[in-house]
Amino acid sequence: MGIGTRTEIRKMMKKGLVSVNGEIIKDPAHKINPEESSIMVAGEPVIYKQFIYLMLNKPGGYLSATTDEYEKTVLDLLTPEHQIFAPFPVGRLDKDTEGLLLLTNDGKLGHHLTSPRRHVPKTYYALIKGTVDTEDQSAFAEGVVLDDGYHTLPAQLTILNAGVRSEIELTIYEGKYHQVKRMFEVRGKEVIYLKRIKMGPLALDESLAPGEYRELTPEELARLK
Ligand code: URA
Repeated sequence: MGIGTRTEIRKMMKKGLVSVNGEIIKDPAHKINPEESSIMVAGEPVIYKQFIYLMLNKPGGYLSATTDEYEKTVLDLLTPEHQIFAPFPVGRLDKDTEGLLLLTNDGKLGHHLTSPRRHVPKTYYALIKGTVDTEDQSAFAEGVVLDDGYHTLPAQLTILNAGVRSEIELTIYEGKYHQVKRMFEVRGKEVIYLKRIKMGPLALDESLAPGEYRELTPEELARLK
């Protein structure tokens, strides 16, 4: 639970700092059922949990991976207290993409959200070089053919602001490599800034600055499951 290493905990136990159901336990081999025991360490309750669910506002410059030899990964943004759970990013955002990224160690939920068969909607906010118009809207609504011949599923394009630079929101129901950028490329337009704002029932908490994260609320978690 991020309280200490095995050696540190053993030392704390020897000092009588650990109690289980009100009884001081000094034997590190003592077995308990963590879900049914009330555990205190140095007078503080320890809430046992198996899974962790974090909402990160991913900043640019970080890989959506757990390790990388050369580059910073989103795990570098977590404190040791959360890293200890060994979470992984659910789906991927490009290195330069910002916004909503869920991190969890719950493999079942991760799989559930990224399964290509489930078509979980993902909404992006983007800045586009060029004027986005109703023809782009119709093309995305029908699906476009990407550079590798893949025909995208119908997607909803909302134009927030059209000009030399346009602001848009795009909802897609799949997650092909560089999908949003490639969809605009087909239309001869370039994505200059990309941020995910929604994934399924989860919306990015706009009070999180890039690089900040928080645990999901019980309500958010209930909506995801
Ligand atoms: N589409 C992209 O092009 N990049 C992302 O990071 C996510 C969706």
